[in-house]
Amino acid sequence: MEAAESEILRSNRPLIDGHAHIDQFAPADLDPLLARAEAANVGLIIAAGVTLESCRRVCALADERPRIRAGVGLHPADLDGWLDGAALAELRRLAQRPGVVEWSETGLDYMPNSPAYDLQQDAFRKQVRLAREFGLPLVTHSREADEDMLRILREERAGEVGGAWHYFQGGLPLAERVLELGFFISLAKPLLRLPELQRAAAQIPLDRIVIETDSYPQPFKKNPVRRTEPWHLPQVAAKLAELHNVDVETVAAATTANYLRMLGGRVSVAELGAPA
Ligand SMILES: [Zn+2]
Repeated sequence: MEAAESEILRSNRPLIDGHAHIDQFAPADLDPLLARAEAANVGLIIAAGVTLESCRRVCALADERPRIRAGVGLHPADLDGWLDGAALAELRRLAQRPGVVEWSETGLDYMPNSPAYDLQQDAFRKQVRLAREFGLPLVTHSREADEDMLRILREERAGEVGGAWHYFQGGLPLAERVLELGFFISLAKPLLRLPELQRAAAQIPLDRIVIETDSYPQPFKKNPVRRTEPWHLPQVAAKLAELHNVDVETVAAATTANYLRMLGGRVSVAELGAPA
């Protein structure tokens, strides 16, 4: 695929990339990445932390860049031990930084080499409690862990702050259970290729969907043009528009309004840089 910048698909209404790991890109790559995002009319990128160090980086990015806000949280696959008092204190401090708008990324990851399940569940419960303490919506990661994820979100009353089920790839039955919790469904590029996900997405009301790219440097992709970046977000919006039989601007308006609603007024539409 030849993807010259002139081929960037864009929306006339600003989009919100609700989940990206842009702190993990080389500093020299960041300005061109943000310029490509702006050309695609991505009005805001939420940079998600995965470790304490990464949380500090996303908070600094949010301080420096008007089109970036931060989520703080610890990714389950990156946990290196039980979540102790010092880490909790640091998370509490970070959660109060001015650019932080959500608790992200946290969740459960039951892959063979992931940390022990009890350790993950403990860290996840504690983070849901922190999110509630600070009134921040939760953006959650669930890999092979959907039942435990749903149960803990329910038990810890995550619905009180709401949030989004990040990188949703399930079918309609799972989507319905996520919606019942009061969460949004966050769709990314798997929507372009997974038939079951496409069938589910066509049935999920547009006022319950947000979109994201989950961008991070993908060193296994030799051609940098093929690496997922925030400027790919209109591809997700366009696919969703096709599935709902509406135009892409309808999807852009809905998903952006949904995200702003989820953030509970922490970001206004005027901050997205273009008329909505
Ligand atoms: Zn992520």
